[in-house]
Amino acid sequence: MRNVVLMGPPGSGKGTQASRLSESFGLEHVSTGEILRAAVRGHSELGLKVESILAAGELVPDDLMMVLIRETLATVSVGGAGWLLDGFPRTKPQAEGLVEVLEDLGIEAPTVVEIVVPDEEIVERLSGRLTCDKASHVTAKGDAKEGDPCPECDGALYIRADDTPETVRNRLNVFRAKTEPAKAELARNWPVVQVNGLGRPADVTQRIAGVLEAEH
Ligand SMILES: [Zn+2]
Repeated sequence: MRNVVLMGPPGSGKGTQASRLSESFGLEHVSTGEILRAAVRGHSELGLKVESILAAGELVPDDLMMVLIRETLATVSVGGAGWLLDGFPRTKPQAEGLVEVLEDLGIEAPTVVEIVVPDEEIVERLSGRLTCDKASHVTAKGDAKEGDPCPECDGALYIRADDTPETVRNRLNVFRAKTEPAKAELARNWPVVQVNGLGRPADVTQRIAGVLEAEH
């Protein structure tokens, strides 16, 4: 099995890379967003709890998230080629929980891949990006301008008020303050490989694929 924990700040292209890598290596793409949506769809007791938390606009607490991650990883670790975890862990307690769950279930240790992009590049990428007014689809600036139709639905594109350089910098600082301890915790247990996230998405995919192939 090949198990991967993919980390990277907002604007690092992590979501895109997660999809591409899962597809090319035949890995189960495990994203926290999808886990939560699946829980809600399942209408279990846990699902109803998640639904009410999300409806209130609150964050799903670590212990509840851990239960869902455990269930999911237990399922996807049977038989398949492996999995790629995207968007988790984001905090130190989550990282500790993840290490414990894998040990507990006897699941093969993952390779942690961190996509590294300098802050200034992220600010450049995210500030002034275009969001669609219907379904929040996001389009990179340069590909379109305000008022253009959304490429994915029939909405119109606009620049969100909080996508300014200053707010992007703030979001990044908050993200790093939380995830650095998580990364340190993973690094105490598993190999962490940093990959340069600059350049074309296809080049970044190749770099990460090279790392994953070298690890096996
Ligand atoms: Zn749209």
